[in-house]
Amino acid sequence: MDEKFDCIIVGAGVAGLAAAMTLARNNMKFLLIEKGEFPGAKNVSGGVLWGSDLAKLVPNYWEEDAGWDRYINHRRLTFMDEQSAFSIDFKSSHFNETPYTGVVVLRSRFDRWLADKVQEAIDASDHSMDSFIAPNILVEEILMDSGKAVGIRTGEEKFYADSVIIAEGVNNLLTRQVGLQDKYVPADHILTGVKEIIRFDQKVLEDRFQLNGKSGMSNEFVGFATDGVEGGGFLYTNRDTLSIGLVLGLKDLREKEKKPHDILNIFKQHPIISDMIRGGEVVEYSAHVVSSGDKRLIPEKLYKSGLVVCGEAANLLMNAGKAIQGMDYAMRSGILAAEAIINAKNTNDFTEASMKKYQDALEASYVMKDINNFQDAVHLLHDPVMSRKMPNLICDFGRNFFSIKTEPTQKARKMLGKAVKKHSSYWELIKLGWKGSRAL
Ligand SMILES: Cc1cc2nc3c(=O)[nH]c(=O)nc-3n(C[C@H](O)[C@H](O)[C@H](O)COP(=O)(O)OP(=O)(O)OC[C@H]3O[C@@H](n4cnc5c(N)ncnc54)[C@H](O)[C@@H]3O)c2cc1C
Repeated sequence: MDEKFDCIIVGAGVAGLAAAMTLARNNMKFLLIEKGEFPGAKNVSGGVLWGSDLAKLVPNYWEEDAGWDRYINHRRLTFMDEQSAFSIDFKSSHFNETPYTGVVVLRSRFDRWLADKVQEAIDASDHSMDSFIAPNILVEEILMDSGKAVGIRTGEEKFYADSVIIAEGVNNLLTRQVGLQDKYVPADHILTGVKEIIRFDQKVLEDRFQLNGKSGMSNEFVGFATDGVEGGGFLYTNRDTLSIGLVLGLKDLREKEKKPHDILNIFKQHPIISDMIRGGEVVEYSAHVVSSGDKRLIPEKLYKSGLVVCGEAANLLMNAGKAIQGMDYAMRSGILAAEAIINAKNTNDFTEASMKKYQDALEASYVMKDINNFQDAVHLLHDPVMSRKMPNLICDFGRNFFSIKTEPTQKARKMLGKAVKKHSSYWELIKLGWKGSRAL
């Protein structure tokens, strides 16, 4: 292939596929390169794609029976101690309406399906014969000429383009190679995610979680779930499987000398979890690094002349306890990256000033607005008072509040006071409340 592309995209994850779809729809000639055997082959995710950008890429995607497993109409946030669980539980038929607020996806299936949709868009474009999705190729180098990205190298082969979109995910070696993330990334800003997929008879799963048709549930966990290690847990209902897993602070794991898989086993043995997964068969285990949502991880500059970085390669992720948002950010940033490239092509201007428009658009989008607005919440989630003492306190209170005994019942206020004294102090709670009110 000696021809030159308008753009080369590295990585066919959510960000790369969103960028590719946008380029294809705008008649751009591009090459999308993926190191896995097929898009999705290397991707791990707990599984809820939040927001409605998918509907922009594939209008009425809900009419298709592929790619996604269930829509979320039931959300739960659970505080755990060793034996108990206290949940904030919300279910609404509002969430049954399209476009859904979130859909559960299994990435190996979803990425493949989205890649097929990109191929359909390529086939319908002016470049049906010279735009390509190329799996099984590892990009080893971004080729630069006088400070401008001009293509990529894989092994001995080189491919050239007016522009490059780096969408390589969290292990952002190429982003580092071009000097956009040259600062040391501290281990306490990085988490590791471990996940199991547990298979059930579909009817058993639907009855157990009160699922109706394609409805689904997402449950996040704080407290005992992580056996004292910084992080949290999650459980999502897929079509006939559950995704269950943890995200754990790397630094804390090392300092406490604990292993992710051992902690996952402890989590699974918790009384409420063991009841949820009873009778299921583990069919998959995976582990993957994941950003913490700390803004300090995001490179200051996400562009160079002829080049932009999107998705988790740019560490765009948020986890403030309510949900992990990485795929929706990847999707939106992939779309914005492609729009900047289309604009550059139309004006024949691939300079830094032109590529900066991508970062400006990202800053103006909900992605950076949320990341900026909820930094305090991200840090609060990792505060030991919030992640350890609060769940114990809440569960202790719950245990007393819901116990009916043949003796005089205490007022809830007194029960709460006792729980506060046992696990924390009013002063600590006032500080937490103050931080919480500012963070949320
Ligand atoms: C356990 C766990 C649970 C999660 N849960 C959720 C969740 O519920 N909701 C959510 O929104 N997010 C979740 N995330 C985060 C989410 O998975 C990521 O933020 C998202 O996948 C980022 O998308 P991306 O396209 O930027 O990167 P990726 O999905 O990682 O895709 C990058 C792609 O680039 C390819 N690639 C990398 N380097 C090269 C190279 N040199 N050459 C060619 N190809 C290359 C990779 O093979 C991969 O296909 C979770 C993550 C983990 C680990």
